[in-house]
Amino acid sequence: MVCIYCSGNTNVTNSRLQKRSNNIWRRRSCRHCAAVFTTIESPDTASSIVVSYEDGSIKPFLRDKLFISILKSLPENDQYESAAELTTTIISTLMGKSLAKMSPMPAADIIKAAQTVLHRYNRTSYLRYSAEYAADSVRITRKN
Ligand SMILES: [Zn+2]
Repeated sequence: MVCIYCSGNTNVTNSRLQKRSNNIWRRRSCRHCAAVFTTIESPDTASSIVVSYEDGSIKPFLRDKLFISILKSLPENDQYESAAELTTTIISTLMGKSLAKMSPMPAADIIKAAQTVLHRYNRTSYLRYSAEYAADSVRITRKN
């Protein structure tokens, strides 16, 4: 990878596997200008996992789409860091089920994973998310 400041060649000075997110974090140093910056390598879910919807359509799994749905469910719509962490947790929950092997993955499974994580996080967020993406679940919850 080239330097983000001068396009010179770089060396990796440190690297770690982030187990929870299945990312590889790397600290890089530029051989030309000595700038230091970080890169993160993560699986390209959009090219390896597809989601099947009830109407029969199949679409790539987009992390950003999940992120936006979580962000919209949070009490304050500017909780970007919380939404990013919750999104990572939901994806790691799905990864535990061998995400790629389950491809195409039913959209309902992703919604269930998101509901489980949001339920532990904040009841209001869980209800907002459920009202938007899984109306039946909200009805069941309200009966109890
Ligand atoms: Zn440089």
